[in-house]
Amino acid sequence: MSPSSVTVSSRGVERILSGHVWIYRADVTDDSRAEPGDVVQVVDRKKRFWGQALYSSKSQIVLRLLTREKRPFDKSFLAERIRAAYEFRQQVARGAQAYRLVGAEGDLLPSLIVDRYGGCFVLQTLSEGMEKLKPAIVETLNDQFSPLSILERNDAAIRALEGLSELKGVLSGEPVSEVIVEENGMKFCYDLLGGQKTGGFLDQRENRAAARQYAGGRLLDCFCYAGGFAINLARQCEAVLGIDTSKEALALARRNQEMNGLSNIEWREANCFDFLKAADQEGRRFDTVVLDPPPFARQKSSLEAALRGYKELNLRAFKILVPGGYLITCSCSFHVSEADLLAIIANAALDAHRTVTVVERRTQSRDHPILLTVPETHYLKCLILRAL
Ligand code: SAH
Repeated sequence: MSPSSVTVSSRGVERILSGHVWIYRADVTDDSRAEPGDVVQVVDRKKRFWGQALYSSKSQIVLRLLTREKRPFDKSFLAERIRAAYEFRQQVARGAQAYRLVGAEGDLLPSLIVDRYGGCFVLQTLSEGMEKLKPAIVETLNDQFSPLSILERNDAAIRALEGLSELKGVLSGEPVSEVIVEENGMKFCYDLLGGQKTGGFLDQRENRAAARQYAGGRLLDCFCYAGGFAINLARQCEAVLGIDTSKEALALARRNQEMNGLSNIEWREANCFDFLKAADQEGRRFDTVVLDPPPFARQKSSLEAALRGYKELNLRAFKILVPGGYLITCSCSFHVSEADLLAIIANAALDAHRTVTVVERRTQSRDHPILLTVPETHYLKCLILRAL
């Protein structure tokens, strides 16, 4: 069966030539022959071929480019892409038990995420086209890795933009939800069906390891979730306090603490904004502070409010840091660039009357690849700062 085609305008062609993989509705001139979720040929008005893409009938992102080649995008093509993604992980995540096996656009499989937790694989298919490929993806993962189980965490709100419902559950294998994996030598229990995202925040793995070089004394881990930073850093520190609003996250954090035999950590259910304000007023001081908030700017329109949020958090963190103390501060909002973040944190430092050096400028772990020509794939910023 020959694939249907979708025609794009010259601006659509320019998008492809600029190296982007998304084409918006405004740049599509004819999609009348395509069925929802098809793999389609992308052509221009003169019927020239530009590539093959996943077609979304309801989303503003109508086309997600899979390849510039004419070769049919079939199961063996898909299997090759997954194999290539795995081989790269053998270089950058060797020894890690939990890592992102497929990072969507960054692995040339737009809108597909596969996170691996030991023998359990968790996938997200976030477009109409990827949803249609789900059975082939499950088959490929079973063929290549013989996992214990494959789960889906398709309960992501952005699926609504594709007209897809929220789904979560076991797709294949054992009905496992809880797993224990090692990260940087520490053990972590994650709840793959009940936890946030796909169970864990794997994008911070390298940053948690990097922070070990600097952490010490009294550590405050704000937005601690299951204790990712707190537990990675606890052996370097005298006393650790982890703060989160989620009871479920803190229950996991406590389990993780016990599993690692750590006795110097306390957890508190609180809003970090309130906690930081009160800590400053009470004159509490910390040697190391981690700020890893959820994305404040999910849309461009919330950028200003997000920047105010980052400013307040970082300002308060500077106020409670001892001289020579380290601040590990993150933003996972794509709409907040590293330059924006540095500028807002500079403002915060000035307001707190602190002189600050930038020790490391980091990003997401390398198993979350950044595509040079797709800025949206670079979303996580992690700055390690020292307040003099
Ligand atoms: N640092 C974690 C990941 C943090 S994800 C790790 O390394 O694994 C962000 C966390 O912030 C979530 O656990 C969420 O429950 C929590 N959260 C969101 N808003 C909050 C708030 N205002 N105060 C405290 N925690 C909050």
